[in-house]
Amino acid sequence: GPTGADLTGVDPLEVLRRVFGYDAFRGGQQEIIEHVVGGGDALVLMPTGGGKSLCYQIPALVRKGVGVVISPLIALMQDQVDALRALGVRAGFLNSTQDFDERRMVEAEFLAGELDLLYLAPERLRVDATLRLLDRGTISLFAIDEAHCVAQWGHDFRPDYLALSALHERWPTVPRIALTATATKATHAEIAERLNLADAKHFVASFDRPNIQYRIVSKAEPKRQLLDLLRAEHAGDAGIVYCLSRASVEKTAEFLVANGIPALPYHAGLDARIRAKNQSRFLREDGLIMVATIAFGMGIDKPDVRFVVHLDLPKSVEGYYQETGRAGRDGLPSTAWLAYGLQDVVQQRKMIDTSEGDDAHRRRLGTHLDAMLALCETIECRRVRLLAYFDQDSTACGNCDTCLTPPESWDGTVPAQKLLSTVLRLQRERRQKFGAGQVIDILLGRKTAKVIQHDHDSLTVFGIGEDLREAEWRGVVRQLLAQGLLAVEGDYGTLVLTDASAEVLGRQREVLLRREPEKAAKPARATRS
Ligand code: ADP
Ligand code: ZN
Repeated sequence: GPTGADLTGVDPLEVLRRVFGYDAFRGGQQEIIEHVVGGGDALVLMPTGGGKSLCYQIPALVRKGVGVVISPLIALMQDQVDALRALGVRAGFLNSTQDFDERRMVEAEFLAGELDLLYLAPERLRVDATLRLLDRGTISLFAIDEAHCVAQWGHDFRPDYLALSALHERWPTVPRIALTATATKATHAEIAERLNLADAKHFVASFDRPNIQYRIVSKAEPKRQLLDLLRAEHAGDAGIVYCLSRASVEKTAEFLVANGIPALPYHAGLDARIRAKNQSRFLREDGLIMVATIAFGMGIDKPDVRFVVHLDLPKSVEGYYQETGRAGRDGLPSTAWLAYGLQDVVQQRKMIDTSEGDDAHRRRLGTHLDAMLALCETIECRRVRLLAYFDQDSTACGNCDTCLTPPESWDGTVPAQKLLSTVLRLQRERRQKFGAGQVIDILLGRKTAKVIQHDHDSLTVFGIGEDLREAEWRGVVRQLLAQGLLAVEGDYGTLVLTDASAEVLGRQREVLLRREPEKAAKPARATRS
């Protein structure tokens, strides 16, 4: 094999074939690689699974010296380095999991010019000894992986990353390539600014993942809905099921196992050894399901993940897109399936209201949530909405739930007025705020204990909503929230009016709603393309 072979100056395509065993570059790789080989700075935006790694690995091999890769994925460094070594690439890493001797050995290899690639955890760069070490070797390039970590707008901001802007000052002639799968214009601009990448060439790949079928359903009995999906469409397939809390991860994994479906839990509360073991089983064995919090998945490269399920609403479209992007890296048909309900909105609002940080931070979280809700409640093609979020134009895809079974829309102005005026009456006449459950009970004319206790059956709006089912009313609430015509606040998720509510109540604005299906329609399985 090519172990230790000097590839300096060799043609990138030749390196792709000889070292990595692939025939051809994929969308954009060649241009990016040539630019970096030529010494240029680059900002690369490519969806998860797009093939970012080769964009710095090949230039590191072709240019003289060691490519230094800054990556927050400490848990994966060993795997990444092992995989490269198996291909004959001389790779090593430095992070906090190593003992003194291990670090010493890697440092010695670096200094002796015996490495092609050196992976570093970002916090290493805050250690002066690391900077002095780098000074004594020859660096071919800096690759900054998961570059959105530098941006407040990204969803996993890391203060460590701010130190990276200093790289350019210390090594002004070494090219830098920053890579991310997170790419709204705002994140994009912030990465360029924070990393001093003003002169970098921007490479923006298409964010479309045509083989992924996006589906969003309303949540009724989530575990049962999940089981139906798996049995009907994904028997024996590997997949990831995301839950918000550790407790629901555990419960869902147990539920699947009890129903004869092999599943493993993964969350930050588990012992590190169990986490590592579950992760490696998921990667190596066939047909396993990983039930996880979002702590799982960054940097995971398993090509045949056939589905990604969200049993709770993701906090942002960017997070949702990264998580669902882990499906179908092999290009075969895959499913992204999300179940969400009113309770998700209430819970997330509460989390935002009580989150640490300043008002601006909370507003930002609120904006992220609103965008996610708008995606859930859209009657347009999901993919068009998703790509539009990343500032990319597209046309209806034919492979998402709204394309396959177009939801009916209906004029919901009157029900919206009924609901908003109930909230208004509670607020004005009683100086009270209640959650969706009580408001819906009032609309449906239900004499529950709580209705009687608060004398809500004497309100003039009591029973004015009997023409809709409870599930439909919950749909109305959700959609009014998504459209900003209603808001939810506080510990108990109480409903409150917004400025825009007045327009509906004053008949200046019509409300278009998406019909709640009796039972979620199941679109046909995507065809192979
Ligand atoms: P990303 O970091 O963008 O999520 P990776 O770099 O992990 O993506 O690549 C995703 C998968 O695609 C990997 O299995 C990788 O080996 C494979 N891959 C990348 N480039 C090519 C290519 N030119 N031809 C074939 N497979 C490729
Ligand atoms: Zn579509």
